[in-house]
Amino acid sequence: MVVANQKGGVGKTTSTVNLAASLALHGARVLVIDLDPQGNASTALGIDHHAEVPSIYDVLVEGKPLSDVVQPVREVEGLFCAPATIDLAGAEIELVSLVARESRLHKAISAYEQPLDYIFIDCPPSLGLLTVNALVAGAEVVIPIQCEYYALEGLGQLLRNVELVKGHLNPKLHVSTILLTMYDGRTRLASQVAEEVRGHFGKEVLRTNIPRSVRISEAPSYGQTVLTYDPSSSGALSYLEAAREIALRGARKQQEQHMVEGTQ
Ligand code: ADP
Ligand code: MG
Repeated sequence: MVVANQKGGVGKTTSTVNLAASLALHGARVLVIDLDPQGNASTALGIDHHAEVPSIYDVLVEGKPLSDVVQPVREVEGLFCAPATIDLAGAEIELVSLVARESRLHKAISAYEQPLDYIFIDCPPSLGLLTVNALVAGAEVVIPIQCEYYALEGLGQLLRNVELVKGHLNPKLHVSTILLTMYDGRTRLASQVAEEVRGHFGKEVLRTNIPRSVRISEAPSYGQTVLTYDPSSSGALSYLEAAREIALRGARKQQEQHMVEGTQ
């Protein structure tokens, strides 16, 4: 699942780590790939990512196997992270001159042999080669949308990029999930934005909105997801519920595929 939106601060990283942790707490094996040079997802998962740590940069640019950089997340069994270090800031430019520059992450994931139920890729706030690598590697795009003014602005560009990558490099790619984040039910604006997004996207929008919650924003400074930091908070419960919707959709899709295969 590629978590993308070229706007910064909309809840990409927060949603990546909390959805991933929710699914792992329910017994799934989940890998988070941190593709943002800021390394916020690595920090939030309590993963060491100082400059010397083997990281996703080494995988993308040096061709190191993914298994050499993946670390287990201490707090949550079944959750793993490929960290990003500051090196990754240069990768956007270094990738330009490398062969198969758009599909290096895809190749690394294909060669990864550990069993996994989900892979979440946390994208940087841009549509450059790092995000393109994520879109080529994944099948489903998850777009977090912050319930504020201008929420839909700039989304057209992301959707066009998804279509371009789908048309040329990855026919499986589609926007499967829209997640409304930082929802403040007390404001009219939030409910108006939510309504507008639901009107625009329809069934891709998860029923669960993620509320604005101090506990969610505090958790990363303890190297934790909100699921372990404050498991009974509204933020934790809403991420669990959103993850449940994602898991159910996945199960339903698999069932449909079996039925189609059965009739062929
Ligand atoms: P992005 O990865 O899209 O840049 P982040 O996930 O880092 O966005 O979120 C931006 C900021 O908003 C962070 O400081 C984060 O802690 C905070 N934040 C994210 N989601 C929530 C929420 N539901 N409630 C309160 N703060 C949030
Ligand atoms: Mg981020």
